[in-house]
Amino acid sequence: MRKIARPLTRLIAHSLAAFAALALAAQPAAAQSVLRDAETEELLQDMLDPLLEAAGMNAGQVDVVILNDSSINAFVAGGQRIYVHSGLINAADNANEVQGVLAHELGHITGGHINRFSEGASKATSITLLSAVLAAAAAAAGGGEAAMGVLAAGQQAAMGSFLAFSRVQEASADAAMVSYLKCSGISGEGAVAFFRKLQNLEYRHNVRQSDDAEFSRSHPLTGNRIQRLEESLASDTPADSPPADLVTVVTEGVDADPQSEIIPRGPATCRTAPPLQAETAALETRFAKAKAKLFGYLAEPERTLNFYPVADTSEPAHYARAYAYHKEALVDQALAETDSLVTAEPDNPYFLELRGQILLESGRVADSLPPLREATRLTGAHPLIAAMLGHALIATENPGNLDEAEQVLRAAVGRDRENPFAWYQLGVVYGKRGDIPRARLASAEQQIMSGQPQLALSSAEAAEARLPTGSPDWLRAQDIALQARAQLERARDRN
Ligand SMILES: [Zn+2]
Repeated sequence: MRKIARPLTRLIAHSLAAFAALALAAQPAAAQSVLRDAETEELLQDMLDPLLEAAGMNAGQVDVVILNDSSINAFVAGGQRIYVHSGLINAADNANEVQGVLAHELGHITGGHINRFSEGASKATSITLLSAVLAAAAAAAGGGEAAMGVLAAGQQAAMGSFLAFSRVQEASADAAMVSYLKCSGISGEGAVAFFRKLQNLEYRHNVRQSDDAEFSRSHPLTGNRIQRLEESLASDTPADSPPADLVTVVTEGVDADPQSEIIPRGPATCRTAPPLQAETAALETRFAKAKAKLFGYLAEPERTLNFYPVADTSEPAHYARAYAYHKEALVDQALAETDSLVTAEPDNPYFLELRGQILLESGRVADSLPPLREATRLTGAHPLIAAMLGHALIATENPGNLDEAEQVLRAAVGRDRENPFAWYQLGVVYGKRGDIPRARLASAEQQIMSGQPQLALSSAEAAEARLPTGSPDWLRAQDIALQARAQLERARDRN
């Protein structure tokens, strides 16, 4: 964070509020954190949904969380989430490769491979998920260092409870992957290509010690595993049953345990026709943009400009360079890149979001409002974008903007339960209005979802004491106090 923040904070040091948006957007100092981005999250969900349906689940039943980590890895924890490292997205040449990985991880979920450490995993998950946003909210409140501590501890807990899968479980997840890919009509070429790529990386870096391909350490890759995968993808085996040889491996595996013998259940209905070519192409176009955006956001600006030289006038290149220039506080150049993007696609909400973000973070708060309002409107008030608009409205320091800020922030917290940043902003709105009970209630919301039950309890009790008895807010304050007490008790019992 510091590296990125230095040139920018000079420009916006006058505005504490603007810093919050910066902290939310900038790379945290800790090695790993959750990366939240509306465009990338929606893309990954759209890539996963047909696979979920192929697995007999509902679209959206499992979601994808992006972790800021340059190593190539993906894993499951908590049962309803697939974690993907930014390094994996960067290493993938196309969306189809990532879909292969998602299908495999989904196989671990449907195979019940995570149940036996679900206790540990769910605990770690709740910290991991929230910590990046918590860091932003806490940094805004002046607790930057403490927030980083929480972040680091949370990540460690999450990684510690993630264990390598056994060979048997890998075979079962591969079988599921083949089944889901076939059933949804999605090509298996990407899966094979990606596994081969990881295997080559392993050879090149003299295997297991390398951080580059953590995926292959936690999901051991062998030559004949990939070969088997290729064969079963190519075979005419019905999509709803795992290939016979894999079933054998699963049931005869020496280290089989009851959990890992679960063969993924067949889907209710299997899509026979592959997705339309146009659908696949659209997904690939979106992936190229999201990948470039992630690269520009995470890499050193110099590297970004090498990789996406000025002569490259593709949308992904403009996208990546906009971030590179923004990180160097070259506002005009960054805006010129977003101008090219917005001209090409005037109704692309994510291009408008970036334009608004750059303006906001470089201190041009009033100018940031139109693109952020438009991005909010075009996404039907996506919680992350609406939260940024709410933040910008507050940062104008114009009391006339508080009503609109409250409205968009309320919509954001209503749709996204894991958005402590929006709750923090909402608390600021109430505080500015002198509505202290509701400001305390908003703090309690932010604290309970950030894993701070002690603070949440005192905020909730303070809110409860001053809110009208029996009102919905009063009930909510009681609710949070109860939740916080229960969490504190559980913590005491553990010690
Ligand atoms: Zn695996």
